[in-house]
Amino acid sequence: MVVNKTFDVAIIGAGVAGSALTFTLSRYSDIKNIILFEKYSEVGLLNTNPKSNSQTLHIGDIETNYTLEKARKVKANASMIANYIEHFGFEGSIGFRRNKMVLAVGDDEVARLEARYHEFKELFPYYKKMGVAELKEREPLIVEGREETLLALGVEGEITTVDFKKLSESFIEMAVENDKNVQIHYNEDVVTLKKVGDEFEIVTKNSTFRAKSVVANAGAYSLLFAQHMGYGKDLAILPIGGSFFFATKKLLNSKVYTMQNPKLPFAAVHADPDITANWNTRFGPTAFMLPKLERYRQLHIMDLLEAMDIGKDTLEVYYNLLKDRTIRNYIITNILDEVPIVGKSVFIKDARKIVPTLQSSDLVFAEGYGGMRPQIVDKVKHELKLGEAKLIQEGAIFNMTPSPGASTSLAIAKEDAITICRYLGKKFDFELHEKEIVNR
Ligand SMILES: Cc1cc2nc3c(=O)[nH]c(=O)nc-3n(C[C@H](O)[C@H](O)[C@H](O)COP(=O)(O)OP(=O)(O)OC[C@H]3O[C@@H](n4cnc5c(N)ncnc54)[C@H](O)[C@@H]3O)c2cc1C
Repeated sequence: MVVNKTFDVAIIGAGVAGSALTFTLSRYSDIKNIILFEKYSEVGLLNTNPKSNSQTLHIGDIETNYTLEKARKVKANASMIANYIEHFGFEGSIGFRRNKMVLAVGDDEVARLEARYHEFKELFPYYKKMGVAELKEREPLIVEGREETLLALGVEGEITTVDFKKLSESFIEMAVENDKNVQIHYNEDVVTLKKVGDEFEIVTKNSTFRAKSVVANAGAYSLLFAQHMGYGKDLAILPIGGSFFFATKKLLNSKVYTMQNPKLPFAAVHADPDITANWNTRFGPTAFMLPKLERYRQLHIMDLLEAMDIGKDTLEVYYNLLKDRTIRNYIITNILDEVPIVGKSVFIKDARKIVPTLQSSDLVFAEGYGGMRPQIVDKVKHELKLGEAKLIQEGAIFNMTPSPGASTSLAIAKEDAITICRYLGKKFDFELHEKEIVNR
């Protein structure tokens, strides 16, 4: 067995989370030996790929499921991506200033959005309130054929759209651009991770490595790595897939989000001009239980069964979700969305909330698009934990970063970099980080 030299930090997974950490450690800390393992041939081929996600920089302004407190935190965290794009000159290649809005339909939603406007306008002073007349001018298809009342909060001139794969590539390019030993290993599938004395042993399909600290940014696999080391046994994964539909022609200029139903755990349907399709309109995502850890990839059945850990406690969480009529109907509808031919006619009801005149023939299933959101199930509290999850144990960090994990990747990277620096007795350059990433 060949054991390669000992690295200060080993990072598993080169999605946006692992790439952001590699960049942050290499640029803002005095750590000199960093290794990043990615099992596929390049950066960001899974959820970070623009075909997998909605390419939205989630700032908290149009996400109506966020409380003011959460929006404040997300704004601070996600702004780091916009700052990075501006500071290093990636506007127009990685980040784009496209208009976006959140749309309220009907009296109840309009009243809720109006109240939200007053509560949130101090945090987002750039909000542009738009009624029917203004919407008709900007996005006529939202108004055409509509009888309900309408109100939208629009955002203009901000970076709203990000190619997170290209962003990750830029992180890696910048991370290796110095005199440190930053190694990026593609096609290097980490199979086991264990602690040997004070160090970690990382066994890949090709070789064995040692590191003083380790960070797993490997999606659902982060939890499996943690559990093999005896941590996070109270957690399991509920794999939620998300698919999209394309319009047969470009319908909208802006990202259009709809109001969240407070009872539903996943984001409401939205329409996004797509970076990968010449800004054609992409509707979605759907949200449905898909027994896979990686969309459009091999099944890995044993890993799936281990991650889902189906037993009395996880089943109780599923039962609690299904008990609620709104959630049950939502789940059924989203499963039907995936059925060929029928799916489109079910999904169109949601999409018509944005474009009322939409016909079934105007939509095509976006084959090859969509990703997985590994949601965390808390087996002790018997609840579904939405959003990011992190386990920290003596020199090891395990991250699971479903939406808005790409938007907050630089903030998560900063937090982890500081934790690792403290553990290794290394320095983090807060001043330079503040100048380049935190403040514009
Ligand atoms: C439908 C959908 C829409 C979304 N929309 C948005 C959005 O608009 N905005 C937003 O901010 N977020 C969005 N997200 C969430 C966002 O895509 C994720 O938060 C983000 O991509 C997570 O990044 P990651 O690096 O943790 O995971 P990934 O991009 O999945 O990367 C994990 C990496 O780890 C590697 N890996 C796994 N196991 C191993 C191993 N054993 N050895 C080596 N490498 C390994 C994988 O190959 C992969 O490259 C969306 C997600 C979905 C599914």
